Amino acid sequence: MTDATTLTRPAVLILLGPPGAGKGTQARMLEEDFGLVQLSTGDLLRAAVAAGTEAGNRAKAVMEAGQLVSDEIVLAILKDRMSQPDVARGIILDGFPRTAGQAAALDDLLAATDQKVTAAISLEVDDEAMVGRVSGRYTCAGCGEGYHDEFKQPAVAGTCDKCGGTTFKRRADDNAETVRERLSAYHAQTAPLIAYYDGKGVLERIDAMGAIDQIRRTLSAIVSRVSA
Ligand SMILES: [Zn+2]
Repeated sequence: MTDATTLTRPAVLILLGPPGAGKGTQARMLEEDFGLVQLSTGDLLRAAVAAGTEAGNRAKAVMEAGQLVSDEIVLAILKDRMSQPDVARGIILDGFPRTAGQAAALDDLLAATDQKVTAAISLEVDDEAMVGRVSGRYTCAGCGEGYHDEFKQPAVAGTCDKCGGTTFKRRADDNAETVRERLSAYHAQTAPLIAYYDGKGVLERIDAMGAIDQIRRTLSAIVSRVSA
């Protein structure tokens, strides 16, 4: 794997991808391969509130009033977090920005320290293939072993390979209609963001339907190239 020291400047990566595209798995691999740190909005907020930072206290007051934390507060928390030594090699943002407006505000924040988004990486999926993958999933009720109507049936029909159990269950939200709805909501929400980063010349599209290791190699090559 690529040595973490090959990155010559801190990477600021935005990872985009619909539920089921393997975003979490790939983010963990980027952490391993490059020493990056994934920052999710939820984790950032919780940590800042717990640490009692100035921005964290403001976020806490807003949340206690039952209101949404403003972009301005999220950015202040992100700015604090990015000044800490453990993220010196770079970050992967998860869940922020969600809109083109937030992306522009993030660019302003980064520009103040002479940084910019290194790459916005879009994990692209074939929607109908995703529907097939997700909607065919089921698990053994006894041991939790995962199966799939099309790709992984038990060796003996109706009997779990692992524990011999004969009861299986499906998640209610793993049906084709729900998966299609999740995907179209994702596309609607993300299209402006993809257009924004495309316009900035930092958008990278990756075919996320292949094998995990293949996607990892493609991602690593991109991160090495854009951070050199
Ligand atoms: Zn079982």
